[in-house]
Amino acid sequence: MLIGAHVSPAGGPAKAVERGEALGAQAIQIFNQNPRAWKPTVYSGEQVAAFREALAASPVDALLIHAVYLLNAASEDAEIRAKTLASLVASLRAGAALGAHAVVLHPGSAKTGDVGAAIERAGVVIAEALAESEGCALHLENTAGAGGTLGRSFGELAALIDAAGADARLGVCLDSCHLLASGVEIRTPRALTAALDAFDAEVGIGRLGSLHLNDSQTPLGSNRDRHANIGEGELGLAGCRAFLSEPRFDALPCVLETPGPDRSGPTREELALCAELRADGLRRRRRARSRAAK
Ligand SMILES: [Zn+2]
Ligand SMILES: [Zn+2]
Repeated sequence: MLIGAHVSPAGGPAKAVERGEALGAQAIQIFNQNPRAWKPTVYSGEQVAAFREALAASPVDALLIHAVYLLNAASEDAEIRAKTLASLVASLRAGAALGAHAVVLHPGSAKTGDVGAAIERAGVVIAEALAESEGCALHLENTAGAGGTLGRSFGELAALIDAAGADARLGVCLDSCHLLASGVEIRTPRALTAALDAFDAEVGIGRLGSLHLNDSQTPLGSNRDRHANIGEGELGLAGCRAFLSEPRFDALPCVLETPGPDRSGPTREELALCAELRADGLRRRRRARSRAAK
């Protein structure tokens, strides 16, 4: 598992690698454009070269690009869908230029309308964005389920992937906070195993491509998306330990999007805590297996 953090890309993507390295991250996630503006970013050849050089010289092994929250591929407004498409294509092209592991996208919001129709609209935009780009994977993130947000269940994620043409570049990013808030119990190894078995049955475990580890300020099934620092929310240390040591997550980047002690994001201490929790979780799982074998 490549444990890392969402970091600021201020000053260019090479600076994001430096920030990740300072945190002890093995994976980083950035927004590739101003989260409050529609203007897509196109990185210069110089910025791309500087990024690749910084990455090669650092312990950071994976980059995720998070599409900004303005995007709504499921919007009923054709202008919003057109802007979403342009921005998503720019993100995927930036991802290809930087060699990103994937672009992570919130699939969209149905607001108050019909969910099936919203999934169809989102599918059209996502399929078009894939057709207008190449090389970079697109991971649909599961959501907490607030306000008609699509992707609140494994069934909805599967329907979105189908509506977008089930392209091989399509995958899923699972966020621990959103899982719990959407009503999926994941706080013990046994519960997480059951949840992933359900994911496998509905979506296919091969589609699982990236992870967000966040604790949750709000309880199971609350449908509210409020990230908490690791160990300080409803998942707690035990829930985070189960997530970090899950065998089916072994090869994936796992990025923290926690507020941090001073609201400036994950800290070096928090990433070190995650590495400890993972090692402890793996030890406990080994002990449980050897007890079971006796
Ligand atoms: Zn997200
Ligand atoms: Zn997330």
